[in-house]
Amino acid sequence: MDKKLMERVQKLMKESTVKDNYNCPKCRDLGYTFEMGEDNNEIAVPCQCLSKKRAVENLKKCGLSDVFKKKTFESYKTLTTSQIAAKHKSLKYCKGDFQNKKSIILSGRCGTGKTHLGIAIMLNLIEQGVNCRYVEYNNMIISLKQSVMDELNHLKEMEKLLNPLVLFIDDFLKGKTTDSDLNYIYRIINSRYLSNKQLIISTEKSMEEILSWDEAVGSRLVEMAGENIIYFDENSLNYRLK
Ligand SMILES: [Zn+2]
Repeated sequence: MDKKLMERVQKLMKESTVKDNYNCPKCRDLGYTFEMGEDNNEIAVPCQCLSKKRAVENLKKCGLSDVFKKKTFESYKTLTTSQIAAKHKSLKYCKGDFQNKKSIILSGRCGTGKTHLGIAIMLNLIEQGVNCRYVEYNNMIISLKQSVMDELNHLKEMEKLLNPLVLFIDDFLKGKTTDSDLNYIYRIINSRYLSNKQLIISTEKSMEEILSWDEAVGSRLVEMAGENIIYFDENSLNYRLK
């Protein structure tokens, strides 16, 4: 090869390495790599970067504000014995029972950190590539009511609640509930129950209170959550004062 041609080739090679500046060099941002299968056929294998990319996308559209995105397990302060137990159970849920399609309910008074823990669970699941959505209960009801005259818009609001694999309803049943509220709640809970999609619920109500408010909703929640109903013990809350 003559010198000039050699130089040209070297220059081209150099340029192509600069162009090789992919976010994921392993798959060159394709999202998959090729491996040899059993019959010597090339098969596409999803790249590890794919779930990371999905996690970033899911975090963007999960409905959490930036302040809420800081509510992780690491920043959850455990001051009482029941908070320690709740954190432990929640972590265990993220590793195990979530995979078994179970839901989780956090029940306790104001100031126990239910919301923080619920968000920590959600963020952990998002990191695992799960599609999650956060809604505050009263805002959810208001949005559904406001959109009721506009069928298409109402359907969109409903889809936001039914499509994500995990829906976190914060402050469930806060305030007075009307018959039309119950109607919405039943539709959401029942659809998710039938399609095997999980819920994270934080509520000041006990399961007994929810069951006596509406048995159909309560019994579905009990079945969906199974062992994962966490009560923040009132007495334990005063632990730090003793
Ligand atoms: Zn990749």
